[in-house]
Amino acid sequence: MADTLIRTRFAPSPTGSMHIGNLRTALYEYLIAKSHGGRFVLRIEDTDQERFVEGAVELIYQTLKTAGLAHDEGPDVGGDYGPYVQSERKLGYMEYAKELVDRGAAYYCFCTRERLAGLREENERAGRTNFYDRRCLALSNAEVRQNLDANKPFVIRQKMPSGGSTVFHDAVYGEITVDNSELEDQVLIKSDGMPTYNFANVVDDHLMAITHVVRGSEYLSSTPKYNLLYEAFGWDIPVYVHLPTIVKEGGQKFSKRAGDPSFVDLLEMGYLPEALVNYIALLGWAPRDNQEFFSVAELAGVFSIEGISKSPSTFDYAKLNYFNAEYLRRKSPEEFHALALPYIQKAVRDPRLDTFKISRTLQQRTETLRDIPGMIDFFDALPVFTAELYTHKKMKTDPDVAKNALSLALPVLRGLELWSPEPLHAALVGLAEQNGFKNSQVLWPLRVALSGKPVTPGGAVEIADILGKDESLRRVEAALAAL
Ligand code: GLU
Repeated sequence: MADTLIRTRFAPSPTGSMHIGNLRTALYEYLIAKSHGGRFVLRIEDTDQERFVEGAVELIYQTLKTAGLAHDEGPDVGGDYGPYVQSERKLGYMEYAKELVDRGAAYYCFCTRERLAGLREENERAGRTNFYDRRCLALSNAEVRQNLDANKPFVIRQKMPSGGSTVFHDAVYGEITVDNSELEDQVLIKSDGMPTYNFANVVDDHLMAITHVVRGSEYLSSTPKYNLLYEAFGWDIPVYVHLPTIVKEGGQKFSKRAGDPSFVDLLEMGYLPEALVNYIALLGWAPRDNQEFFSVAELAGVFSIEGISKSPSTFDYAKLNYFNAEYLRRKSPEEFHALALPYIQKAVRDPRLDTFKISRTLQQRTETLRDIPGMIDFFDALPVFTAELYTHKKMKTDPDVAKNALSLALPVLRGLELWSPEPLHAALVGLAEQNGFKNSQVLWPLRVALSGKPVTPGGAVEIADILGKDESLRRVEAALAAL
């Protein structure tokens, strides 16, 4: 394929929010195209009108945009191979199906719903796979003509070879051989004149000059049927790239149906799009070295089909959190503040509290934005806590140490004129030194007294600075009273 322009397509069905597996498919398609100077095409597969969800097409555009995967052709951006919406291509499919009938690779089927239902029951009873029994394959040309003239409803079915096997090559899974007896004479054109997905994807991929068909491994078993269609038409077979399933810990499929979050859900859970895309890139693909952090542009520079693995990849929230935390750290303080603000405001309503200062304490230690309210709720309201919180072996503190340190600290804090980090720090460290304390023996109890929490973003000085003098003194007094 050295001279062929690589063209990949993302072919989602507009059935709702975008699942992570679909987004990964789009990403790999984008990367395969871009790593070769090729084109990434968006095609909307809406032939199953019953599953159509209002607004889903806009959500697809939005998702690709948020993820940074700009398509070169598609319904909204145009291109030379349109229309890019399957339902708008309807007429063409019928012509192609008729061509297959003429070539002896497909046939009209007039079996009624009732007959097919009866057949299914029979097959079920006999414990057989429910395959169509090919009754209409036996119709003579004259009979077919008569039925068509009488306007009998029909479907067009693919005629599978009666013996032998079909072999195809997949760039990830290698050579795959399927017994033709396992292939049903599938419907290509439905009784409403619409093509099935199984037919439309082949015709469209050919007409849109798609060179690499990338999709989930759940389509592997249908691929021999597609292959037979390409062969019947005499068309070039694309490179097939099937992607491993994404699973959860425990091995079940990570899926929308099982309640696992979609891309939009994950954004709402406080993950950054760039962290998600970086993490998803590594769900089934590995670079040659051990690099972990990539922008989409960097990925396009190093991505290769050889790096895609066959075995299922596990969606690991801990790993995703690790990526997200790093992307949050890389933001400028201003960008981070803008991202964190809605979450800060969920927990901090007191207008005297400086959200920018709060945001500075959070940036280095936030894994997901959604964690923020729980990390800082103590600013607005001191939680109830027990004296046990003052005990910390490494810090060499316990309630007694805390009582001593806090009673010494209180007058010093009261006397401070300039309430800001530097003088606060100097005063507290000076106090420790003069009284033979380790710094931690003053700072740990003070942090506990001010926050009521074992872990906080920011230390005693930062928290005191944010709370302000009055509130800090009030909390230290209350802590002493309780000790
Ligand atoms: N419309 C199919 C889906 O959403 C596309 C599969 C393919 O890429 O061929 O799963």
